[in-house]
Amino acid sequence: MDHHSAGEVTAPAVSELDPPNRTLMGPGPSDVHPRVRRAMSTPLVGHLDPSFVELMDEVQELLRYTFRTENEWTIPVSGTGSAAMEAAIGNLVEPGETMLVPTNGYFGGRMAEMARRAGGDVVEVDAPWGEPLDPADVESALAAHDPDVFGFVHAETSTGVLQPDVPALTDAAHDHDALVVADTVTSLGGVELRVDEWDIDVAYAGPQKCLSCPPGASPLTLSDEAMEKVLSREEAPRSWYLDLSLLEGYWGDERAYHHTAPITNVYALREALRLVAEEGIESRWRRHERLAGALKAGVVGMGLEMNAPDDYWLPSLNAVRVPDGVDDGEICQTVLDDYDLEIAGGLGDLAGDIFRIGCMGHAASPANVVLTITALGDALATAGADVDPDAGIGAVREALR
Ligand SMILES: *Cc1c(COP(=O)(O)O)cnc(C)c1O
Repeated sequence: MDHHSAGEVTAPAVSELDPPNRTLMGPGPSDVHPRVRRAMSTPLVGHLDPSFVELMDEVQELLRYTFRTENEWTIPVSGTGSAAMEAAIGNLVEPGETMLVPTNGYFGGRMAEMARRAGGDVVEVDAPWGEPLDPADVESALAAHDPDVFGFVHAETSTGVLQPDVPALTDAAHDHDALVVADTVTSLGGVELRVDEWDIDVAYAGPQKCLSCPPGASPLTLSDEAMEKVLSREEAPRSWYLDLSLLEGYWGDERAYHHTAPITNVYALREALRLVAEEGIESRWRRHERLAGALKAGVVGMGLEMNAPDDYWLPSLNAVRVPDGVDDGEICQTVLDDYDLEIAGGLGDLAGDIFRIGCMGHAASPANVVLTITALGDALATAGADVDPDAGIGAVREALR
């Protein structure tokens, strides 16, 4: 149609919003709790409204509880998990400084990219995709490179690996005077995480994984020592939007305008964190372990193999080996089409090798586990894979009993 010749402009005809009703068991986002959705439909207030200022304190308090920290510097960063990640790295790493990052998954690579953009030099501690870091390797990398900052991924969503024995890594880093940044995007609110007890200096997360909240406001916490480093930088960080010394004016005592907080997302996060507090953080970790344990039992019961051994299995993200003779992308498409269920394939070094099945937050429920094992067993059997779907379901029932 020619929009220029006629006098009148034609408005695009777009139908009413009607998204499909998916069950989200992929690597995130996860299913949102109805109470969180309701919180998002409450009235908007100004970002300096007295009622909102009070709500900011509550969110900070709930975040401290969820992170298991007393860090004063605990805030939701405007944006997705990557915004909290870039706030952490972009403020902590100064030009010419060195950051040590891992090679054992997709998100270690993103850490490296952000550190470089912050003007830092990147050095690596090697481990294959699908394996955790070996504390001895971290120790020798620290000794060899003397980095200012060491970053690791607590829960690698790309590989389904949980980094065990975090204190071994933080102790080693602190012995070499490096500050520790932990990616806890897929662990916060889902698996055991103790920021203070484990001596993590900076941790960032996302709301749409184990907190079951839409993306938009992302948890970040910094120790006093880390914040001191940030506040005594010689050069301002390259991002104005994520400059923590400026954000301090809003989230600190002053409550002065920096940028408009995503009010509705902060409401959502508050409600999601209230659900965490009601359940109790430790019960929530146990629920994830129990439900993901049932999922794992179903996977193994139907004849499939987990990619990670039990020592570093990540309950919130289950990496399952793709059996011979089937295409992971086709299976994911079939369960989406036939069951409205989202799971994902692998990426990077594990592309084509694994399914990634989340078990996060509100989505970690008996009904979802039964649905997932049913759908996966059905799709794989139909595609001709050597699986026993009924044995899978039997194993789930047994595990849930
Ligand atoms: C999802 C994820 C991120 C990035 O979060 P976004 O919300 O996608 O920006 C970072 N690290 C890990 C481990 C993740 O799973």
